[in-house]
Amino acid sequence: MSLVRPNIEAMAGYVPGEQPKEGEAVKLNTNENPYRASEKAYDAIRAVADRGLSRYPNAAGQAFREAAAEVYGVEPDWIMCGNGSDDILTILTRTFVGENQVLRLPYPSYILYKSLAEIQGARSEEVRFLDDWTLPDDFATPPKPDADAPHRVHSLGNVKPEDLKLVYLPNPNSPSGTRISNDQIMKIADSLPCPLVIDEAYADFAGENCVELVKKNPRVIISRTMSKSYALAGLRFGFMIARPETIAETFKVKDSYNCDALSIAAATAAIQDREWLAATTKKIVATRARLMTRMRELGFTVPESRANFTWNVFPNAGTLHKDLYSYLKQNGYLVRHMDYPGYGDGLRISVGTDEDTDRCLALVERYLNDVGRRSAGA
Ligand SMILES: *Cc1c(COP(=O)(O)O)cnc(C)c1O
Repeated sequence: MSLVRPNIEAMAGYVPGEQPKEGEAVKLNTNENPYRASEKAYDAIRAVADRGLSRYPNAAGQAFREAAAEVYGVEPDWIMCGNGSDDILTILTRTFVGENQVLRLPYPSYILYKSLAEIQGARSEEVRFLDDWTLPDDFATPPKPDADAPHRVHSLGNVKPEDLKLVYLPNPNSPSGTRISNDQIMKIADSLPCPLVIDEAYADFAGENCVELVKKNPRVIISRTMSKSYALAGLRFGFMIARPETIAETFKVKDSYNCDALSIAAATAAIQDREWLAATTKKIVATRARLMTRMRELGFTVPESRANFTWNVFPNAGTLHKDLYSYLKQNGYLVRHMDYPGYGDGLRISVGTDEDTDRCLALVERYLNDVGRRSAGA
């Protein structure tokens, strides 16, 4: 007889992207930033290390809350810090979703939300995006019987409207890179009976965000990360923007010292360096345009990306996506081959430096000219 909770035993567990050894491959697979973070972040880490680490950090990460509040025009008690935004998502799921209750997410999107539901022993309701990567009306309504929910991926069995406790929406979405408009999100938030968490991991690359919606609707919660746009994935720092009443509840759920002194200091310095962020995102957005254009010229379908990656699908691909992934890997370029049951597969390619992006594109072209035609069955 197993000693483990049945829902843990039944789950597969979230599998993060491959992290090869330093220098082994050019990483275009986990949407990290190809540039070095603000020097001010590194200076802040050195200053904390020099002062010493014998004391506990500020439990709320108050310095960061004040800096972020300034940036987003809210009060510090609208901000909560997390050990990466994955920590924020874990805290939110534990705060709102209990056993057998329902957590909704779009499909295909970030797989972690589903794992978080599984840990809680909750049910997840995956709602398929429409072909143009917008959301069907089902996404905004309380859960209905399977027969009335045509975009739902799996049966939910016996479901009551009040079972729905939390909705996740990554915006821009991964893997598509596409963005739902603030108007549509506001309509979704206004119709839902529960909180709506907008995961804005990639919002800095989109040129617009949903922060204003937190002020308009108390059910809207925003999750952010320093891992992508601030080039600090190794630091582990994320944060959330929500009404103070919500933040106060989530504080009861988080670990007392969920962020360490080094990461609080570095994240505070990084978020204050607005010049670095503007210059770096500008470069990435320019390279993204090049990547999208060239992949389309090479025959891929690429939805308009508002993030720091593109989603590339070759028509009637057969095994082409998987084979191309292997070919690129053999040649030192690691991209992400994503295969979503019931949806299909494709390649997600992170925006690198101009040089790395061009070399990757040259390899894709060479592959298509050499062997790709055969594996595509053309
Ligand atoms: C990368 C990513 C995150 C996780 O970020 P961390 O802060 O590094 O934990 C969250 N959500 C989405 C959609 C992501 O792609």
